[in-house]
Amino acid sequence: MDKIIKTIAENGAFRAYVLDSTETVRTAQEKHQTQASSTVALGRTLIASQILAANEKGQTRITVKILGSSSLGAVITVADTAGNVKGYVQNPGVDIKKTATGEVLVGPFVGSGEFLVITDYGTGRPYHSMTPLISGEIGEDLAYYLTESQQTPSAVGLNVLLDKEDKVKVAGGFLLQVLPGAKEADIARFEKRIQEMPAISALLESDDHIEALLAAIYGEEPYKRLSEEDLRFQCDCSKERFLNALASLPQADLEEMREEDQGAEITCQFCQTHYHFDQKDLEELIRDKS
Ligand SMILES: [Zn+2]
Repeated sequence: MDKIIKTIAENGAFRAYVLDSTETVRTAQEKHQTQASSTVALGRTLIASQILAANEKGQTRITVKILGSSSLGAVITVADTAGNVKGYVQNPGVDIKKTATGEVLVGPFVGSGEFLVITDYGTGRPYHSMTPLISGEIGEDLAYYLTESQQTPSAVGLNVLLDKEDKVKVAGGFLLQVLPGAKEADIARFEKRIQEMPAISALLESDDHIEALLAAIYGEEPYKRLSEEDLRFQCDCSKERFLNALASLPQADLEEMREEDQGAEITCQFCQTHYHFDQKDLEELIRDKS
């Protein structure tokens, strides 16, 4: 089971989250049958929304939309404070690697555009916040978003490593933030630690990447573990939910589906689950309308 561990430095100057998102991204890859670049772009965005949701309290939903201009199209994920995340990439078939190193390319195929975050506290009035994409690599874009929109100096590392068959080997990340009241010396130490940190990919390669991340983040500095919570790819769609969506269509459209198509097929874009509505289902909707 994937997890997120929340920690704080004993002197209260920083806090850090570390995540194992391997099963989450593996499930996303299986459901959407994504090729290499699409897998990594979707995976990084899923991790980004897990980090943002972990920053919220109560029953909050965070939608992240990577609205890029290049061949991947939009990447859209939704995470909640209970550890669920779902998502999809508009073009699941992008598979571009550097010939010499085999490195999967993401940023150029996201392109320029916007990093949009929609926060829904359940009040029916979601809050929108947007920053430009800096590199399209998602991690840097999230760090920029946090620094700009939340005015909190933040360092983010997140990545998805693939095996030789382009299946998900490991996925995870971290968020490190300076807390209000941190002293100049604390901030200087924070910046030095970030500069000296090994690459996120190298840390994810470790046998226990959660411990490797914590060791790289805190070094000798004492810290406390505040909590450990489960994370998972979980869609909240249901036949009933899509039935409600169908019910909002004009009666003429429903009659056309009943007569000409003998039913309706709907596929959830977030998890690829297929729902079939037969003539009887449509009949009931039409009857409810009249
Ligand atoms: Zn679904």
